[in-house]
Amino acid sequence: MTETPSKPALALVAHDQKKDDMVRFARSHARRLAAFDLFATGTTGARIIEAAPELPVTRLKSGPLGGDQQIGAMIAEGRITALIFFVDPLTPMPHDVDVKALTRLAELYDIPMALNSATAELIITHPGAIARPI
Ligand code: PGA
Repeated sequence: MTETPSKPALALVAHDQKKDDMVRFARSHARRLAAFDLFATGTTGARIIEAAPELPVTRLKSGPLGGDQQIGAMIAEGRITALIFFVDPLTPMPHDVDVKALTRLAELYDIPMALNSATAELIITHPGAIARPI
């Protein structure tokens, strides 16, 4: 009997000033995103679900309340295949340290990580090229 291969898991996070970009990205790539299991921080996930209700997004806690760290833990557990994080480069945030920690884990575990839509598009258009988590 053959097992159905599980979908690659994509984590999605956008800072407040970048949430409109994330919504645009999710809407224009909804068909491709449907090929992934999607996880998002709380508010980012809510915005994506509102804009593209057909996408099955699992919402975690809001970023400032620990959502970024939940994604970091999932990366450490090998449960995230790639990370798309639209970072606001112009606004200091109380949870800047969480952004740094998440970036460090993506580096450590060699997870493809996109910080803007140009790179995010590369990741989702080549899902077969993304290494599966161990
Ligand atoms: P949010 O978190 O999606 O809950 O706004 C994102 C972040 O600021 O890390």
